[in-house]
Amino acid sequence: MVRTVATPPPPPGEAVLLAPGVLWLRMPLPMRPDHVNLYALEDGDAWTVIDTGIDSGRTRAIWRALLDGPLRGRPVRRVLVTHHHIDHMGLAGWFVGRGAELLTSRTAWLMARMQVLDVQERPTEQALAFWRAAGMPAAMLAARGAERPFNMADTCHPLPPGFTRLAQGGTVTIGTREWAVHMGNGHAPEHVTLWSQDGALVIGGDQLLPSISPNLGVYPTEPLADTVGDWLESCDRLGGLARPGQLVLPGHGLPYAGLPERLAQMAENHRIVLDRMVEALRHGPRTAAGCFDILFRRKVGPAAYGLALAEAVGHINHLAATGRVWPCGKTADGAVLWGGVTAPHSSVIRLSNAANPGITHGRSSRSHPPYRRGNGHPRTAKDLSGLSETGKLGRRAVDSGRDLPGAGQFLTSKNKRS
Ligand SMILES: [Zn+2]
Repeated sequence: MVRTVATPPPPPGEAVLLAPGVLWLRMPLPMRPDHVNLYALEDGDAWTVIDTGIDSGRTRAIWRALLDGPLRGRPVRRVLVTHHHIDHMGLAGWFVGRGAELLTSRTAWLMARMQVLDVQERPTEQALAFWRAAGMPAAMLAARGAERPFNMADTCHPLPPGFTRLAQGGTVTIGTREWAVHMGNGHAPEHVTLWSQDGALVIGGDQLLPSISPNLGVYPTEPLADTVGDWLESCDRLGGLARPGQLVLPGHGLPYAGLPERLAQMAENHRIVLDRMVEALRHGPRTAAGCFDILFRRKVGPAAYGLALAEAVGHINHLAATGRVWPCGKTADGAVLWGGVTAPHSSVIRLSNAANPGITHGRSSRSHPPYRRGNGHPRTAKDLSGLSETGKLGRRAVDSGRDLPGAGQFLTSKNKRS
């Protein structure tokens, strides 16, 4: 059973003590979900901070209140970022500027550093071709082509030219705890998860969320990515480390226990959707965008369209990589049509991709204690072991208009860094 903590989340500027030396913090986000969880881990006479929120005047003001309040004026010695998305990496460079060391995976650092430096005034030709091939309507494509796209630099502080790498199988000591490092994939490449060696705690980022299903989007940066395959592989592998009693500290939602069941649920949710897609495509070819009703079972509005399209391409790419769908033509607008029928040549092993039909696509190889309030005074402990059960199936990713690895169609200018 997946059970979330009964304790309400900390308001901005306040903290909840989840375990000795482990504070739960929250930052608001100008998108869905409307918050990101951060954690501060006691590290000698300083702190190691896990994830940061986006770079905005509001977030920095809340951080200052946290540093002066619940964090008792002690310095942040290290900032450890689970993955490169703006809600997690946004203020990493700001902390480095205040004397912290940045720890993350090599891919997270490379992705973030690249995307922060890569400012575009208009979508690239590659991005337009990707959206067209995936089935974005012509009018929307024309409108987006004339607009300044979201740029990661809008909500992410400049990153330092160097960092400290966390690698798969490594360990990191924070205060009195040693944590094993295991990478997840699918939502973001080389996403860090941390597993306390005493078996009590797991820092899950967006790889291990309690209720919502993170977006497994494919973007023009890597149009052939098999994000769904990467995700399923991660669920299986991390499932080998999961124990029912671990308290998981997720990037969004509430801390929870029941990770083995949650990992199985998340994988099963995607397998069900994949089967539904194959079944529908047997009855007639569709574009990736034409699969929205199968994937999300609701109408996708313009605000969520970009993430929904990325997720649809992710599922098509996985079905193509595993030989379950084939490209079988194009629409008049140039979108690739996919069919779930028997391949015209059963020995086909090089498949065109949903977004880049000209690019060949080989079969995937991957196949108790007190809280602290903002004023630094402890609150009375509530029953942190009193966990409540969450719904059996997670909500689909289209709910979470967020985590835009360089896309970010939903951030308006008022959300930009101030
Ligand atoms: Zn996130």
